[in-house]
Amino acid sequence: MELVFATNNKNKLREAETILPDSYLLLNLDDAGCPGDIPETEDTLQGNALLKARYVTKHSDFSAFADDTGLEVEALNGAPGVYSARYAGKEANAEKNIDKLLKELKDQPNRNARFVTVIALIIDGEEFLFEGEVQGRIATEKSGAKGFGYDPVFIPSGYTVTFAEMDPSEKNSISHRGRALEKMRIFLEERNRKR
Ligand code: IMP
Repeated sequence: MELVFATNNKNKLREAETILPDSYLLLNLDDAGCPGDIPETEDTLQGNALLKARYVTKHSDFSAFADDTGLEVEALNGAPGVYSARYAGKEANAEKNIDKLLKELKDQPNRNARFVTVIALIIDGEEFLFEGEVQGRIATEKSGAKGFGYDPVFIPSGYTVTFAEMDPSEKNSISHRGRALEKMRIFLEERNRKR
């Protein structure tokens, strides 16, 4: 079955491909004929995930899912949260976001944080939401070159290395998106069994 993942982020696509069974052919936004970035204008992860998935189903005949992720830092009262992508402002990129985060947390002993992912799936016109989270802490400096986004400064609970130092399969097995994708995989399997 063809399923559109409403993203052009290659890292995210690879993560989803390893979790979903081979019977799903994952397409990205370009493949679905929906080029360009979809502006995330909502103020919740659910809202943005739904907005991106709805964009695809409105502009194509495919079933689709989309994710939105937030990094919630305890000492910053949950910021950057839903605004994680634009934390360093309009011209933000991963490096600038991390630099700002490390500056905000300078001399801050409480480095507890969590990643939360919400996936919105629209299949045969019906909408479903799946959530995954991982607890951890923000490192005092960047380490590792794998992954993307805030991975070089996020150390998941129970580990001493950042996501960017882990093999992708290891990150996937415990990550926010990995957990949300796993919930969606189980849901799709059950749904297929009932049909
Ligand atoms: P979005 O869900 O792609 O909008 O991501 C929001 C922000 O979180 C962006 O800055 C991403 O780079 C970052 N982000 C999303 N997923 C991950 C992840 O798995 N690891 C690290 N950063 C992530």
